[in-house]
Amino acid sequence: MGIVVQKYGGSSVADAAGIKRVAQRIVNTKKQGHDVVVVVSAMGDTTDELRDLAQQVTPLPPPRELDMLLTAGERMSMALVAMAIQRLGHEARSYTGSQAGVITDAVHGKAKIIDIRPGRIQEALGDGAIAIVAGFQGVSHDTKEVTTLGRGASDTTAVALAAALGAEVCEIYSDVDGVFTADPRMVPTARKLERVSTEEMLEMAASGAKILHLRCVEYARRYDMPIHVRSSFSNLEGTWIIPDNHPGAQDMEQAIISGVAHDRSEAKITVVGVPDKVGEAARIFETLAQAEVNIDMVVQNISAATTALTDISFTLPRADGQAAMAALARIQSEVGYDKLLFDDQVGKVSLIGAGMRSHPGVTAKFFSALASAGVNIGMISTSEIRISVTVDEAQIETAVQAVHAAFDLDADEVEAVVYGGTGR
Ligand code: ASP
Ligand code: MG
Repeated sequence: MGIVVQKYGGSSVADAAGIKRVAQRIVNTKKQGHDVVVVVSAMGDTTDELRDLAQQVTPLPPPRELDMLLTAGERMSMALVAMAIQRLGHEARSYTGSQAGVITDAVHGKAKIIDIRPGRIQEALGDGAIAIVAGFQGVSHDTKEVTTLGRGASDTTAVALAAALGAEVCEIYSDVDGVFTADPRMVPTARKLERVSTEEMLEMAASGAKILHLRCVEYARRYDMPIHVRSSFSNLEGTWIIPDNHPGAQDMEQAIISGVAHDRSEAKITVVGVPDKVGEAARIFETLAQAEVNIDMVVQNISAATTALTDISFTLPRADGQAAMAALARIQSEVGYDKLLFDDQVGKVSLIGAGMRSHPGVTAKFFSALASAGVNIGMISTSEIRISVTVDEAQIETAVQAVHAAFDLDADEVEAVVYGGTGR
């Protein structure tokens, strides 16, 4: 039997009882004959609490020290899980990201994995031990500093390790039974999906579905690694994310719509009065790229005939708002725009489904569902299999529920159970 990588999220290891429960699950998998590698998140809301603590000490925590602080969260869980497994009579060894060979670039707070050298993990497995790895962290190849991979990135650690080890499957354990047609915290009648293609899962994760980290899905697709999303609180079969080239992917029946996702983590910036000439947009977005700001939706109007000026609006992570505004302010005279507007009261609602490619009318139905619910639409963006709009943040819930109902996604009986977590 092959290697199984299991990732346990913060709500699964929130307290001593959770850690013992998870340890038992890990041991059961080991007893079935698998080699087991476990990736853990920080306990409960530890990462948020550590961030809050840093904020109380200084408004702008130095990125290097913040990474040192935050990585401590996962180290607590890894050691405790290893102890709990040993107490059950099995050998377990915990490793920091750096010890596990997670090599990253040097960007603190959102480092990218550039290589995995899992020598010590393979050694542990060779000795018959269970390896426990701290998620969401690595070590920079260039600076030798400890880095973090971004919020929610323990998923990415798990899939990257699974790929490097040639694992059979990467199991992601969370506090719900799988991927649902909407966040069950917002739509209690959401339905569990049995299978989702990586293509759709990428769109869902990019649209704010928090169940899986976006980069972990990209990794799974690139390395053809199946992911099984399930709950550590039940024994139910969860949702399988099947890479497009994987055996069985072709027979997947494609529903028209796989779900509705929402995102409250974005803000909108509008650059008002941009002169209509070659190179202006390039200059604006180069500046944002240099500031390491990830852009999501972009809208530019045609310029007004009388003024030859136009407005460019885009969305970005709220957390990058300050950095983006400062970077753009520095090029105001060069670009010659009038002013910048910042709005952090926006929410994004997206409808995702591979079947929409071949079904006309999906967009019309989406917009009319929002209209009937009295929701005004801001920006719009689409891909072949997704429609996204920005709405007033206060209306996200109304919008998501209206769209979910309009596309008949509601289950007759409530099947979603939220077992734990604070949803923070
Ligand atoms: N503990 C980190 C976070 O809360 C990483 C993770 O849970 O995936 O973002
Ligand atoms: Mg997570």
